[in-house]
Amino acid sequence: MNSSATGGDTYCTACAGVLDTSGRHPVCTACGRVHHRDPKVGVGVVVLDEQHRLLLVRRGVGPGKGLWALPAGFVDAGEDPRLAAARETLEETGLVVEVGRVVDVYPAGGTTGRGGASFFLAFEATVVGGALAAADDALDAGFFGADDLPELAFPSTTAAASRVRSGLA
Ligand SMILES: [Zn+2]
Repeated sequence: MNSSATGGDTYCTACAGVLDTSGRHPVCTACGRVHHRDPKVGVGVVVLDEQHRLLLVRRGVGPGKGLWALPAGFVDAGEDPRLAAARETLEETGLVVEVGRVVDVYPAGGTTGRGGASFFLAFEATVVGGALAAADDALDAGFFGADDLPELAFPSTTAAASRVRSGLA
């Protein structure tokens, strides 16, 4: 297993011993400590306007830089995932949203190790305030109809968009 599979950790954080990375979790060859890696949790929102168009942002950072995705970001340690989704939406789009139920949970889609999330939670959300203006990690933001979608960044974006198209979201 190469170093990218362990997030680049080759030494024990407890005793600086060498890690054995051949198994599911790296194990210290000196003290035996098992190094569990915390997942990076991504959250995002499915927001529709009155015309049933989907809110998307053009990503200013990788993975998927330059492509379009749901407003999304990482959950901070100890942060409520719904509040994280609302915070990221406000940061990226200027819109204040009320976050509702889970649309779906998506696996990494090959972005792990490239700065992406370990898994991604998409929530339904409703705009309750603010004004649409891209900011922070987003280069642009807007609402798109099902037949008018830009190039999408992730399988989860495509899946959420197709849910909207089929009227499930
Ligand atoms: Zn150790």
